[in-house]
Amino acid sequence: MTAPAIDGWFTVDDGVAYLLGTACDRCRTVHFPPRTGFCHNPYCDGENLARVRLPRRGTVWSYTNARYPPPAPFVSADPYVPVTLAAVELDGAGIVVLGQVRDLTVDDLRVGMELELTTGTLADGPEVWMWGAPATDPPDLPGSPGSPGPATQTGPPGPPGPANRTGPVSPAGPPAQDGRTA
Ligand SMILES: [Zn+2]
Repeated sequence: MTAPAIDGWFTVDDGVAYLLGTACDRCRTVHFPPRTGFCHNPYCDGENLARVRLPRRGTVWSYTNARYPPPAPFVSADPYVPVTLAAVELDGAGIVVLGQVRDLTVDDLRVGMELELTTGTLADGPEVWMWGAPATDPPDLPGSPGSPGPATQTGPPGPPGPANRTGPVSPAGPPAQDGRTA
């Protein structure tokens, strides 16, 4: 049995991993890690942030590997095994989440390919979220180099703003209706 590395940032439900975030009930901006207090969107003064499970899939925004062991307090495997890292833009959430990549190397990754949330165990024991190949679909490994990816990978996402209201993520539970009238 492994313990989560960071309590409250992700959960595993029936073997399925979910990142846990918050979503503003006013502008739907999604935050990760979960926030309390007020909305991160500078154009919004919302203060009602609901706990949500974030989309489990996203597309690779950037990736790299760590050829040298990170400094303490990171506990590396001995002998050290290079770690693959990916920044993944969550489907429909407007945010990018960094994570270790499980069972794939940088040779397998391409910007724009789809990855799915999973978990893995760090060298010193804790369980943490990781990115992996989607469970049902084969990973999108382009057969030809330079194949164009989605048009949305041209630059870093800005701070969530009013334009990022494309759709709500699944709420973890019914939204609190604590006396708001409008
Ligand atoms: Zn907001």
